[in-house]
Amino acid sequence: MHPDSQHVSPNTSLHAESSGEPLFQPAYDPQKNRSTAPLELPGGYWFLFYQNNLLLQEGSKVVPQILPQDVSSKELQIQAPVPAPSNRSNVESNLGTLLNALDLSWALDRIQRIYYFGTLKGKPCWACSLTQNQPLGKDSNNPPPGWEAVNLRMAYGRLSSEELQAARFASHLLFWDRNTRFCGVCGAPTTDKPDERAKLCTQPNCGAVFYPKISPAVIVAILDGDRILLAHNRRFVSKFYSLIAGFVEIGESLEDCVHREVLEEVGVTVKNVRYFGSQPWPTPDSLMIGFLADYAGGSVRIQDDELHDARWFSPPDMPQLPPSDSIARKILRWYETEYVPKIRGQGH
Ligand SMILES: [Zn+2]
Repeated sequence: MHPDSQHVSPNTSLHAESSGEPLFQPAYDPQKNRSTAPLELPGGYWFLFYQNNLLLQEGSKVVPQILPQDVSSKELQIQAPVPAPSNRSNVESNLGTLLNALDLSWALDRIQRIYYFGTLKGKPCWACSLTQNQPLGKDSNNPPPGWEAVNLRMAYGRLSSEELQAARFASHLLFWDRNTRFCGVCGAPTTDKPDERAKLCTQPNCGAVFYPKISPAVIVAILDGDRILLAHNRRFVSKFYSLIAGFVEIGESLEDCVHREVLEEVGVTVKNVRYFGSQPWPTPDSLMIGFLADYAGGSVRIQDDELHDARWFSPPDMPQLPPSDSIARKILRWYETEYVPKIRGQGH
């Protein structure tokens, strides 16, 4: 008989927020937003997006930054010499990649929207979407020389966790902006609502309000004794195995969704569904809500076209696992380092 795993609950310190002042602080100030490039781009961190990809300077591990205008040109020279065309190596410091505003000249006529969305390490954050109506580079969708387009899912370990957090925020914000430029009720253009993060229909007789949409999705670890059920999804870019996940449907509780997704995807039933933690997942507008559940019955069989394989694993025979910053990986880390040792200890 397996010991009852529901008595092994996640240690909240594993996923508790770090104490102290957060390095990324969201804010709302629609007066700073722009629909075209201003004469001079304001200082701060620039989160440039093209087709949901973040634009970073080639090889850079930080989000590009424009120095505030009050920095003297002499100081600028010392801190950020403009790289010669033959030498594209980035100028990096603790502050990030320091840019001369001229370096963004290629982007100016492509700017569709500039959003102020808060501060990162005390500096303003700008989310900027580049129009998809014209190519990104000179004559192709390749970024201009010296730049690269990075999928946020691939940015784990490349950007710091606070830069990644701000980048996710910017990505979600721009996605929402692109999809709410017109009122869904009457078709009139929308405008930024002055007092809260929302879009307001400009047709006075309508006045509909559109808040950013957040789509909840569950992700669940199915436990049976010291085993865990993992699946390989066809959409995964590499061969890793992860937890069962799926979007919440209309009328469902999160727990209903866990039961339905597990049954639909791997054909088993679960019990003792309990909360683990959550993570914003901007692909493009989700919130992942993590759960643990105990296997209740049924044999594993793939019922969904999305899955390629599903099977039980236990340490030390674990497959390749998902990226380290994801909630899936956090649950798996808890499983390996806390859950399994406790369950195996109970069994003796
Ligand atoms: Zn309307």
